[in-house]
Amino acid sequence: MIRKVLIANRGEIAVRIIRACAEMEIRSVAIYSEADRFALHVKKADEAYCIGSEELDGYLNPHRIVNLAVETGCDAVHPGYGFLSENPELAAACAARGIVFIGPDADTIRRMGDKTVARKMMQRADVPVTPGSEGNVESLDVALKEAERIGYPVMLKATSGGGGRGIRRCDSPEDLRRNYERVISETTKAFGSAEVFLEKCIERPRHIEVQVLGDHHGNIVHLYERDCSIQRRNQKLIEIAPSPQLTPEQREQVGQLAVRAARAANYRNAGTVEFLLSDQGEFYFMEMNTRIQVEHTITEEISGFDIVQKQIRIANGEPLPFTQEDVKISGYAMQFRVNAEDPKNGFLPSYGRITRYYAPGGPGVRIDTAIYTGYEIPPYYDSLCAKVIVRGRTWAELLARGRRVLGDMAISGVRTTIPFYREILDHPDFIAGRFDTGFLQDHPELLNYSLKRSHDDAALAVAAAIAAHVGL
Ligand code: ADP
Ligand code: ADP
Ligand code: MG
Repeated sequence: MIRKVLIANRGEIAVRIIRACAEMEIRSVAIYSEADRFALHVKKADEAYCIGSEELDGYLNPHRIVNLAVETGCDAVHPGYGFLSENPELAAACAARGIVFIGPDADTIRRMGDKTVARKMMQRADVPVTPGSEGNVESLDVALKEAERIGYPVMLKATSGGGGRGIRRCDSPEDLRRNYERVISETTKAFGSAEVFLEKCIERPRHIEVQVLGDHHGNIVHLYERDCSIQRRNQKLIEIAPSPQLTPEQREQVGQLAVRAARAANYRNAGTVEFLLSDQGEFYFMEMNTRIQVEHTITEEISGFDIVQKQIRIANGEPLPFTQEDVKISGYAMQFRVNAEDPKNGFLPSYGRITRYYAPGGPGVRIDTAIYTGYEIPPYYDSLCAKVIVRGRTWAELLARGRRVLGDMAISGVRTTIPFYREILDHPDFIAGRFDTGFLQDHPELLNYSLKRSHDDAALAVAAAIAAHVGL
């Protein structure tokens, strides 16, 4: 029985996991770097331990983390997303010390973390994959030959990439020559691996991914899809569940493909199977993420399941207490990744002190964040500062709620992506539910919003009035 969990993460996801534990009467143990002394996850956990003065090293040291879990009497470790969540060493170190890793086993993580291995596994299981190179490409010459065979444009991708990094579109052999060394050096730095492969570039694709759950008793179900096509540089900004762009038949089809993929991987715990949907209506497997995802929230909102609690129960050995037929979704949900970035300045990170924070409320709203008034966003970690999740019975209600909630939210002290999201919500193509992964690139005018409008916001005025009243 899991009674005490060490959370090997920080920020909003650490807080999210602490909340899941609290509802299950499981004790939570936080870890933190010196830079995170005043972080919310440290205050919210039942216990917290500093794992070093370095900003990153402690969060990235599997052995130190597992030692601490043993010393503090934890029986499980939850990795969250990012950091060590897809590093097989943490899962292996847990297993070696008799600590439950809340996620799939090290072998599954290793196999699915290698995109070419995962692709081969899917081909064997009859899950369509994007046409591409046979495994990794060993040299520029091989890459050029393979690209000729696949046909331009191609995507040059890091085999162990993630977070949208290490991906370049190449429209010609010259492009491929230019990008080859660049991608290799980028992926070596970011992922410690120089392996790359090629995929056919799918034109105007939609990014459709499916949440799956697998237990230790052979049961695998899906919780329907998320549409993550609103991206900038291959990174998700807005996610929607279910996709407003699928027919009911396509919804069934992609759900079944995801279950087939998870079954082929003998998958246990929560995971996500990512697909591209071409403008011809074909789904192509892209990769599987073997962890909780940033956007799991919207699936929780439409399905009613607490996915983090499901992860803990599955790790505990409990069978899924329902079947696919029992999974019902209702309405729509949308998540905005509120990043501390300045959209008008090339999305430059905007770290610093949050001088005022006013959180929206009312029907259909959920805010997952670790910020508070007076909190200083450290420059060492990613720039996600809040996830704003809205829910509505219909697409129209969802859009109206999104506008209202983003207008209701105030963050001062740092620039955020909020005003940019308001522009997206007002765009006719977005309103019509027509967008692909090129949407933001095709609409640079979305950046022409007036800062005046956002500064004059009613929300900021309310926050300022409150601050003045309490003498902040
Ligand atoms: P999601 O797929 O859940 O939307 P993202 O791709 O946005 O997640 O990644 C979540 C976090 O994990 C980000 O901070 C990202 O930089 C990090 N990340 C994802 N994959 C990797 C990886 N292979 N190596 C290092 N960091 C990663
Ligand atoms: P990561 O591991 O960084 O999440 P993915 O393989 O999931 O990388 O790809 C991230 C994004 O890059 C996709 O959502 C999509 O927008 C784009 N992309 C990746 N592969 C292709 C492809 N073959 N054709 C078109 N777009 C692609
Ligand atoms: Mg991906």
